Amino acid sequence: MTPADEARKLLERLGVTCGGSLESRSPIDGQVIGSVAEEGDVTSACARAQEAFLSWRLVPAPRRGELVRLLGEELRAAKEPLARLVTLECGKIVQEGLGEVQEMIDICDFAVGLSRQIYGLTIASERPNHRMIEQWHPLGPVGVITAFNFPVAVWAWNAALALVCGDPVVWKPSEKVPLCAEAVMALARRAMERFGDAPDGLLQCVQGGRDVGQALVEDERIALVSATGSTAMGRKVGPKVAERFGRVLLELGGNNATIVTPSADLDLAERAILFSAAGTAGQRCTTLRRLIVHESIADAFVERLKSLFARIKVGDPRDADTLVGPLIDASAFEAMRNVIGETIEQVDAVPGGYYVRPAIVEADVQQGTMLKETFAPILYVLRYSDLDEAIALNNAVSQGLSSSIFTNDLRESERFLSASGSDCGIANVNIGPSGAEIGGAFGGEKETGGGRESGSDSWRAYMRRQTNTINYGSDLPLAQGVEFKV
Ligand code: NAD
Repeated sequence: MTPADEARKLLERLGVTCGGSLESRSPIDGQVIGSVAEEGDVTSACARAQEAFLSWRLVPAPRRGELVRLLGEELRAAKEPLARLVTLECGKIVQEGLGEVQEMIDICDFAVGLSRQIYGLTIASERPNHRMIEQWHPLGPVGVITAFNFPVAVWAWNAALALVCGDPVVWKPSEKVPLCAEAVMALARRAMERFGDAPDGLLQCVQGGRDVGQALVEDERIALVSATGSTAMGRKVGPKVAERFGRVLLELGGNNATIVTPSADLDLAERAILFSAAGTAGQRCTTLRRLIVHESIADAFVERLKSLFARIKVGDPRDADTLVGPLIDASAFEAMRNVIGETIEQVDAVPGGYYVRPAIVEADVQQGTMLKETFAPILYVLRYSDLDEAIALNNAVSQGLSSSIFTNDLRESERFLSASGSDCGIANVNIGPSGAEIGGAFGGEKETGGGRESGSDSWRAYMRRQTNTINYGSDLPLAQGVEFKV
């Protein structure tokens, strides 16, 4: 079946009717698979979100959690067709599409639990008959801007938390994957109908390109802008939000490394490296891009990797044995060709799509394009002689998202995870840098933007903190022992 025919059927199953000027093309064959209407009035959407906030913030958090529970149910029921649509529209293999929808379900479960655990603090006051507490209140409408490569999960990471925290969401999805967003919104609407009294404007989607994103970023009613995408985008969005003293959560590009030490289990390392470097056609923010191998094992290990990479099945992501699907579009192909030149190996899979064999590039020095994120499957290999050098190489790029080490030496793994080890937001041992679980906080340092989403205490970004001091005595002692005369 052509992607267009399959998309039509899936959209029908998911209850989505679309049509409009923004076309969606499947990276599988480059053909149009549907279209949506572009948002002409972001200002009104923000006004509706603000209106929704006024009532949603008053709904008890566990009741807000009920809406997220219903959303999780809708996602469970629609897991297979939504995952298929992800495959058709962004080209990831079916297993990864299913994984992405599962991530949405997982964060819904997490947020439902969180809705009864939005805890504050009780703080010891220095003054007699005083009590100090810290509590968390809803923040306001959240603007969520997402990238093409996780067309559904990143919205869920944000929306599930925002909803239980008392915040409406206005979503600006990537213009490359608008159909996935329509499908998610259809499921969200169904959950809201079942919920009963969700305010109009609680969950909205504004389709379009950069200008629609910019309008959202500039709207003063958007209390938090959570933006996922390239560092170039973050450089524009960050200062714009700061200008109006809004809050920003940036999830930007990565340039992730893995260190393979002499004590590593090489069979394990090989499998992990294969998936994290070649999987998703190198189009994950956490994709492994730099491999730092100890010189004593490098020659043999790199040979193993090369023969493994040569056997990777590149092709239609709907085929069960495909590991690597297409690049998103021609510009991604050009970006890869600009870096590796004519050594780029195009694979003749489906006419109209850009299919490439993941490349391994050996280098003596870490420089030039290795310091940048090229959103394509290129794995650079460097050699090192001692661990300090390997950690320095890991840290010597301007991005700070994810990292990992393969070692069976406790000292090496602890050193890698220590304060003088990896400088990334994520540092793993004996797994690759990609494929995070929702339970942990997700995000990275430096040019990755510093934001944290998903698990742990990331929910705090979606709320405002209030410190309260309560005097239950009849005197007025001042803090720091300050006295005054009347
Ligand atoms: P992109 O930066 O081109 O676009 C991302 C989103 O930002 C899109 O919705 C786009 O319309 C919007 N946008 C672009 N410029 C804008 C502006 N000036 N104002 C407001 N909105 C604007 O990224 P992409 O090509 O869709 O995705 C790939 C990039 O995303 C990679 O760099 C990848 O590492 C990164 N990414 C990061 C994470 C993370 O969690 N750190 C996750 C996924 C993707």
